[in-house]
Amino acid sequence: MTLAPNVYDAEPIPEAAREEIDRMLQSGDLFRYTAPENAPVTLLEQEFAAHMGSKYALAVSSCSAALFLSLKALGLPRDARVLIPAFTFAAVPSSVVHADCVPVLCEVGENYRIDMADFEARLEGGIAAVIVSHMRGHTSDMDAILTLCEARGIPVIEDAAHSLGTTWDGRKIGTLGRVGCFSFQSYKLVNAGEGGILITDDADLVARAVIMSGAYEHNWAKHMAGADADLEAAFARWQNRLPLYNLRMGNLSAAIIRPQLGEIARRVRDGRTNHDYVAARLNASPWLEVPGKLGPEERAPDSIQFNLVGMDEAETRAFAEAAAARGVKVQVFGLSTDNARAFWNWRFLPGETPDLPQTRAMLMRACDTRLPARLTMAELDMIADALVMAARDVMGEARAYGT
Ligand SMILES: *Cc1c(COP(=O)(O)O)cnc(C)c1O
Repeated sequence: MTLAPNVYDAEPIPEAAREEIDRMLQSGDLFRYTAPENAPVTLLEQEFAAHMGSKYALAVSSCSAALFLSLKALGLPRDARVLIPAFTFAAVPSSVVHADCVPVLCEVGENYRIDMADFEARLEGGIAAVIVSHMRGHTSDMDAILTLCEARGIPVIEDAAHSLGTTWDGRKIGTLGRVGCFSFQSYKLVNAGEGGILITDDADLVARAVIMSGAYEHNWAKHMAGADADLEAAFARWQNRLPLYNLRMGNLSAAIIRPQLGEIARRVRDGRTNHDYVAARLNASPWLEVPGKLGPEERAPDSIQFNLVGMDEAETRAFAEAAAARGVKVQVFGLSTDNARAFWNWRFLPGETPDLPQTRAMLMRACDTRLPARLTMAELDMIADALVMAARDVMGEARAYGT
């Protein structure tokens, strides 16, 4: 019998990281502001900005920190209302609360993407900013979102924690909004254990974020990649006027990330091939459905989500158990205890749990399975077989026609 693949282990860190880490261990040069220039964190920022084609990047301690700093850098007043999708990770509403703002949740459809009618309706309710969370890398209709927000002068932050490598109409996800935020936590495409980065073309916004991230005194000067009058003026404008939240990245993390930037294209290509292969196999089952992507989107998945078709709650639970018995862990977002992606578990939000029937219905039948880019064809087949057969275990051979 084939053993179930381990979908939790990450890829090894490229060998090239070792020399740099050894150098740092020798010199003790771990803090981004010790060296006068070219600290590993600074180089990472320059390389990541170049990779994304954006003007500025700021590396920080997590994507949550990047989201928090983005909201703070927008200068939102206390209790500003920030619209977010109701299907996302608890880190997103948490960053809004952390920034003294109020999260407003909008409905998400059964294809895991923002329901545009509900989004537009809620945009009228005094929304000061939007965080589009590309949850599990699924991209909502960015053309519609940007058009609606631009018309109202509402800034858009992209939570692209899980979308490194995804494109929309050929443009890199994370570069479409005012700010894009990424994660280097171990379950994302680039793994540093922890870490995050924000990108933007807005000099004033990045100057504010740099200072608030912990660039005390004149350390902001180490964020100048060359002559940039706008950026220099922005730093001068904000000197001594902002709190220092100290959410910096250290040099060790940067040294672990930098050699992985060259691996992104391969991981994206393999992840997409793996996902599409397993998706086609699941879609051949009458009980499983992988929603299609939107036209302009090219995905970079490292997991797969699918909906159960025609199963009640007991059958849904039985399916997850049957899959586990066949060696594949499936999480039904809305059924697993205390799932951090089910909005009703965000009990730290102010007020009553919002009533979002469409998102709730989706979460009660949407399944989540990890599918790292490093898996082999045999391992993908093993996962697909286990899922298809688990559905058959519960629902029988095939649905009788017409019933
Ligand atoms: C992982 C994740 C985050 C949080 O990233 P951290 O770096 O762990 O703070 C935010 N949003 C989404 C969609 C994520 O998947």
